Amino acid sequence: MTAFPGSTLTEAEPAIVTGPTDDDWDAAVAAVRRLPPDGRVLLVCHVNPDGDALGSMLGFGLGLRRLGVRQIQATFPDPPEVPEPFRGLPGLELLVPAAAADPAPDLVICFDAASVSRLGELADRLAGPGTALVLDHHASNTGFGDVNLVDPAAAATSVVAEELLARLGVALDAGIAECLYVALSTDTGSFRFDATTPAVHEMAARLLATGIRPGDISRRVFDSRPFGAVRLFGEVLGRARLEPEAATGHGLVWTYATLDDLARHEQRPYVLEALIDPVRCTAEADVSCVVKQTGPREWAVSLRSKGATDVSRVAVALGGGGHRLAAGFTGRGTVDEVVERIRVELAVPAPGGGADRRG
Ligand code: AMP
Ligand code: MN
Ligand code: MN
Repeated sequence: MTAFPGSTLTEAEPAIVTGPTDDDWDAAVAAVRRLPPDGRVLLVCHVNPDGDALGSMLGFGLGLRRLGVRQIQATFPDPPEVPEPFRGLPGLELLVPAAAADPAPDLVICFDAASVSRLGELADRLAGPGTALVLDHHASNTGFGDVNLVDPAAAATSVVAEELLARLGVALDAGIAECLYVALSTDTGSFRFDATTPAVHEMAARLLATGIRPGDISRRVFDSRPFGAVRLFGEVLGRARLEPEAATGHGLVWTYATLDDLARHEQRPYVLEALIDPVRCTAEADVSCVVKQTGPREWAVSLRSKGATDVSRVAVALGGGGHRLAAGFTGRGTVDEVVERIRVELAVPAPGGGADRRG
């Protein structure tokens, strides 16, 4: 796969380079305001939801409730499991399993999904007679809504959600703020990534001003895992491989975890989402990768870059998506086959020398 010269976008990605226009915002506000008194709203987010997907969806749902919308469901594709770190989120009572989601809502609002493929069996809900509103921050977003609020410059989808709530005249309360804070802090790696702009800290300040407790939230979301997961991480980190020559000499570090590893340590698959963090600490590698088994010959692959490599190009080439510095795809076959495909894609030199470090 080749990329446009001087661009961080690949040919497979539409060039969404600017955020929503005033017309887009007005159309989104109108879509919410024209709901009938008993209008039914369905909120959806991407499969295997992370902090941004759940936080922006539930925070927005609580905001809609403050606006007086009474019939609100929130859902995501199966499996219907909320990862333990997010089980304290306000608004969880809005969640229903995908099978119970309204088949024909008046308004569908989609959070943090770059394409309909991330919505699994819920994709058909966007094709119904109701309005489909998309809130997202992936540059690769395919614009699959009737109204698309996609801001690739936003650090998280929650940034877009907060702006829309403000335009709807919804004041932040502690419940909304906690959801949006979890979303913002997870997608910025606790305010460490380059996406952490002054505007991000200003938004964090608005959220904290509602009285939410960042220490408690961070401990729950980032700094807590079962002892079995601690031991599982030890085992999986112990088998990590460093390949200094990979990624055109920028280096690759990778490891994998199987369903058997999870079973032996009696852990749920979502505990592996945090595994990329200790792996990407490796100083000798620009690219880090965790290959997580999801089925007999199926793997969820997480890719991260420190800046020299556009991992979204790699992920898109292998059927997935994401951002320049954080991307993923579904791999099939054996671990070795999946990793070999990654090595091959990483061997393609970065267009423009990889000088653009925006995530
Ligand atoms: P993860 O490694 O799962 O945290 O994902 C990192 C980024 O890659 C996120 O922005 C995801 O939206 C994206 N991503 C992960 N897996 C996939 C996939 N199978 N298809 C498309 N995008 C993905
Ligand atoms: Mn996400
Ligand atoms: Mn996000």
